[in-house]
Amino acid sequence: MLPADAAAKARSTFDSGKTLPLAFRLERLRALLRAIERHEDALLGAMRQDLHKHPNEAFAELGLALSDLKHHLAHLADWAAPQRLPISKVLFPARAYVQHEPLGRVLIIGPWNYPALLVLHPLIGAVAAGNTVVVKPSELSPATSQAVEAVLRDAFGDDGHVSVVQGGVDVSTQLLAERWDHIFFTGSTQVGKVVMAAAAKHLTPVTLELGGKSPALIDDDVNLDVAAKRIAWSKTYNAGQTCVCVDYVLVHERHAAAFISKVKQAWLDFYGQDPKQSPDFSRIVTPRHAERLQRLMEGGTVAHGGQVDAAERYVAPTLLTDVKLDSPLMQEEIFGPLLPVIPVKSLDEAMAFVRARPKPLGLYVFTENDAHAERVFAQCPSGGAMQNDSIGQIATHSLPFGGVGDSGLGRYHGRHSFETFSNPKSVVRKPAFPDFFLRYAPLRRTPLALWRHIVG
Ligand code: NAD
Repeated sequence: MLPADAAAKARSTFDSGKTLPLAFRLERLRALLRAIERHEDALLGAMRQDLHKHPNEAFAELGLALSDLKHHLAHLADWAAPQRLPISKVLFPARAYVQHEPLGRVLIIGPWNYPALLVLHPLIGAVAAGNTVVVKPSELSPATSQAVEAVLRDAFGDDGHVSVVQGGVDVSTQLLAERWDHIFFTGSTQVGKVVMAAAAKHLTPVTLELGGKSPALIDDDVNLDVAAKRIAWSKTYNAGQTCVCVDYVLVHERHAAAFISKVKQAWLDFYGQDPKQSPDFSRIVTPRHAERLQRLMEGGTVAHGGQVDAAERYVAPTLLTDVKLDSPLMQEEIFGPLLPVIPVKSLDEAMAFVRARPKPLGLYVFTENDAHAERVFAQCPSGGAMQNDSIGQIATHSLPFGGVGDSGLGRYHGRHSFETFSNPKSVVRKPAFPDFFLRYAPLRRTPLALWRHIVG
């Protein structure tokens, strides 16, 4: 479908009012749930094709979407019900409540790294809130983007409630030129700026789920075995192509050598001597992205790994030491299985390092000392944070997910998704009687001292 046609269809369907009733929204969410289940094999196969994801890893994407769908089905009636609130005495007598109404037409633009989840997950909230939606999946994960389109056609038909427009930057640019009531973008910080500039032309609100460099801080007081294993996992899950994975490590100098040898061992245990042969290790999205990772390795000394086969989209799990802080390795989001390890003398030095850089999406501290973890969380801003692990902060509906500063703007997941795609309209309902005369001119009838008492 052409971008302008999809936008026009989304408008006329929204204007028809058909997406407003709660029963309709619940029915469409149930249809989406059934369609994802029906297309599971096709979706898992497509993710294998695009990123060589193991089916278990690929299913984690669908699992997050399915569990949030069930959570919405269980709670949407409560969230959508008017919320009665106390009134200020100047309004007396009156009733006041918040009534959530849909924003209208929503545009969702997705990335390639979790190509199913990152369009389905925001879509759940947008549909729950009663919007019409146009989805633009990534052109760099073509098999999954087609599979997602098949799911959405199965669930929503072609009545303009949810439409899919496939394409790359040109199509995205045309979509962004249309007037939307909300734009939900997941992707790089650089393109996030393009999206926000386009949205500003129509004063369209945006949610920007962006990336950045999420650090892991390893304290002196740490369970090093667990820290090394969990960081090794974070850096190779989906071959390190995860927005919230550990980007680099700041390790207490006392543990640096042991940490490196434990990460090596963990990768050997996970993927064997040659990770290229492992059925569990994902591929880089394109040869061009693999070549970029190869260039990033120039920012340090390869202490383990380093093999690249760009044509096969393979980059080995790689440890880098003697890291140059002004190199692209430490200036850009890595987004691949390269782990720079930087020794520090103290947790304070690590915190100063993090604070001197853009606010990250995730912040991870590995420590047995809870007071140390709390100090890091209090003193280093970030979108989310974890103690003794990473990535998992995204897997709980109750927690709002999103970035801060360069890592993003806005929140979603669970109820936070519903709120992101709703306008919380403030409603006050007053009876015609009584009609207090003091509010009307001539105001001099009321001495200021009495007025102060009434209004203050
Ligand atoms: P990207 O910004 O290159 O592309 C994202 C989407 O924007 C794609 O659909 C693409 O077609 C479109 N696009 C690209 N250039 C555009 C332009 N100039 N104008 C308009 N649209 C354009 O991102 P990507 O490479 O697909 O994904 C990787 C990035 O996404 C990483 O930075 C990663 O951290 C981030 N990410 C963030 C989250 C999150 O939830 N915060 C999740 C996944 C990925």
